Amino acid sequence: MTWLITGGAGYIGAHVVRETLKSGRNVVILDDMSTGIATRIPDGVTLEEVTLVDKAGVEAVFAKHEITGVLHLAARKQVGESVEKPLYYWDENINGLTHLVGAMKNSGIKNLVFSSSAAVYGEPDIAPDALITEATHCLPINPYGATKLAGEWIAHALSASDDFHVAALRYFNVAGAGSPQLGDQFILNLVPIVFDALTKGNQPRVFGDDYPTPDGSCIRDYVHVQDLAEAHVAAMDYVERPDTTFAAINIGTGRGASVFEVLDMVREVTGLEVTPERIQRRAGDPAALTADVSRAAQLLDWQSKYDLRDIISSAWTAWQQTH
Ligand code: UDP
Repeated sequence: MTWLITGGAGYIGAHVVRETLKSGRNVVILDDMSTGIATRIPDGVTLEEVTLVDKAGVEAVFAKHEITGVLHLAARKQVGESVEKPLYYWDENINGLTHLVGAMKNSGIKNLVFSSSAAVYGEPDIAPDALITEATHCLPINPYGATKLAGEWIAHALSASDDFHVAALRYFNVAGAGSPQLGDQFILNLVPIVFDALTKGNQPRVFGDDYPTPDGSCIRDYVHVQDLAEAHVAAMDYVERPDTTFAAINIGTGRGASVFEVLDMVREVTGLEVTPERIQRRAGDPAALTADVSRAAQLLDWQSKYDLRDIISSAWTAWQQTH
């Protein structure tokens, strides 16, 4: 069995590739290497350096390899950039997806695991201490989230029209490192932003301390990238089952942590002085996003193993190795 992993040279992709190989499946990576790193690709794994926007290039990859399933991780994923360049996001994330699933359909491949996001929920109208289930109304508030939701719709439609078997994994806040070489090299999310500030002698900034949460800062569900990678293997098993149609599945821990709690853990793990600066809210940040993870347990027989300490300490070890 050979699985095509798009975005396999990225931060999450590198972890997913390793877990897929461990599960006994072969892997081919499709990556445009715009944010991928070649040294993350394990020996013996073929890289097809192709952009999904290149329809003929994508079709050629399917003609060349005996692919049995697709894990589709490749996408543009910066919220702010998506607001500035919405057409670029729709082109890359949605036209790219149509080329990919079109090539799957032409080759008779039906098993698809799609990287979705908690961004599909937008700012859900629920109490800050409520959990988000997959039945929570989806109303994305930026083009990035909109492309993820539209991607789910395309995959859902193909499950009806062409018997695709689909798991759309709605990732919550992914952080940590499965090994010190595989850390997140981009400074775009809270944990790397905080490490970057501290190692430059600056203090982290908290975007808003007046939210309706116990300490006033936003609550998120931080999930270890290693747990996330294992969820992908469970999702491959799930879509390989003959009775699978389509399921959107939250991937988180079911436990929320506030920005201040994350910073407290950073202080404990690193031993550095952390005295955060409180600044104004960032536009578009919901007060709390914590996953109800019962569907993942039920359908995938998967649950997270790692906690916030594991996430921060593995991320810190990896950060020190590469910075
Ligand atoms: N955040 C913050 N300071 C920062 C970066 C992020 O207070 O320098 C907060 C942000 O408002 C959110 C949480 O940290 O509540 C996680 O932000 P991130 O951008 O990592 O992920 P998001 O939840 O927005 O997808």
